[in-house]
Amino acid sequence: MPFGSRSDGVILTRIADPGSATQGGGGLRWGILSRPDRPSRRTRLKLQEFHARQLLRASGLPVPAWSVATTPQEVGEAAVRYLAGGAERVVVKAQVLVGGRGKAGGVKLAANPEEAAAIGRAILGMEIRGIRVRRVLVAPAADIVHEYYLGAVIDRAARRILLMGSAAGGVEIEEVARTDPAAVVRVHAHPHLGLLEYQARQMAFALGLGALLAEAVAIARGLVATMVANDADLVEVNPLAIVRERASDGTETLSLQCLDAKVTIDDSALPRHPELEAMRDLDEEDPADVEARAADLSFIKLEGTIGCMVNGAGLAMTTMDLVKRAGGAPANFLDIGGGARSDKVATAMRLILSDANVRAILVNIFGGITRGDEVARGLIEARAQQERDVPMVVRIVGTNAAEAATILEAAAFETATSLDDAAARAVAAAERAGAAA
Ligand code: GDP
Ligand code: MN
Repeated sequence: MPFGSRSDGVILTRIADPGSATQGGGGLRWGILSRPDRPSRRTRLKLQEFHARQLLRASGLPVPAWSVATTPQEVGEAAVRYLAGGAERVVVKAQVLVGGRGKAGGVKLAANPEEAAAIGRAILGMEIRGIRVRRVLVAPAADIVHEYYLGAVIDRAARRILLMGSAAGGVEIEEVARTDPAAVVRVHAHPHLGLLEYQARQMAFALGLGALLAEAVAIARGLVATMVANDADLVEVNPLAIVRERASDGTETLSLQCLDAKVTIDDSALPRHPELEAMRDLDEEDPADVEARAADLSFIKLEGTIGCMVNGAGLAMTTMDLVKRAGGAPANFLDIGGGARSDKVATAMRLILSDANVRAILVNIFGGITRGDEVARGLIEARAQQERDVPMVVRIVGTNAAEAATILEAAAFETATSLDDAAARAVAAAERAGAAA
């Protein structure tokens, strides 16, 4: 569901906030809506450009040919094909899930196969913002006349899909929104009918695309349709370019082409889209995220020092708040879910400890279907496996709390009965560990 929050209750979204853009506040930003103080965090599925291009194509949008290469030789071979097909040059583009690849040297043009292979070798060897490039996209280079921006996001406040366009394309829209907010055109799609014809025409005219009206309208509507069809929360084409093509008799035609594509999918919608789940690039995901997903744990890494293991999303949020109130900062959001067995608890512990910043762990379990003794046994199991000794404060109440207390006491765990007390002790333990370090 494009408008849904995650099933674990954490609302993570790209906030399209026209207000902050006009105030020079940074325009679009990612974040946990109810917690603007928390660092932003990627929890949706981000697709590589070549996958995003497939989705645009499937919606009938004009995307030029491309192929994916993993070796310089493959880049050369693709270049041979496109140059033989009439292209004057080819473009080689790093496939990594970060923006600004062009600026970082990850997008280069080549005039012959040798040059393409050499560029392929250079780009395949590079790191862009810490991510190693393993694949490149090779395509016939477009002869660009002008670059536009066109992107659809969820506007949660308006509860609609927001299509944004700008005639100042090629650069980041955040930058345009900040320096020249009036240069960003905004249209809200109809919640049931999608982007209506007249709305697409408004957008096209506002961008100065009247001469290519039919194409621009189809692209604008297609972008929104792509978003709806895939439960995406972002579909962005930057640049959408006016491209000049020269026929063999010398006549020139202009057309609109999607030269870059960025799509992110709402995680909650993935059960409806196994074909999109298959596009997930595990190489670029945080290993902790991958393990958490495999174990069916809701885990979000944050930047504090107190690891939190909690059952229930609401209690997890509350626990984070109490840690803050006690003067500490949570290292993560973690909901082990209802009825968690001891092995799941052990996995959760491993995830928490995989974060080198963690100096203390606060376990807060309210036993309902989750049994306190199961969790206690899981904690003992986890501690036996754990490589790093980190102080832990455990509060278990509810189902089988007495059994849990007996087990924990026998194993010499530090326990607490009140949540405030538990939070205060975890914060104190983290401070002691910090001072000792
Ligand atoms: P990004 O920097 O990660 O957004 O990557 P893009 O795919 O948007 O490429 C960055 C820039 O490279 C674009 O804004 C264009 O100016 C340029 N570029 C990309 N593809 C082509 C192409 O086919 N032909 C030409 N001439 N330039 C291109
Ligand atoms: Mn781009």
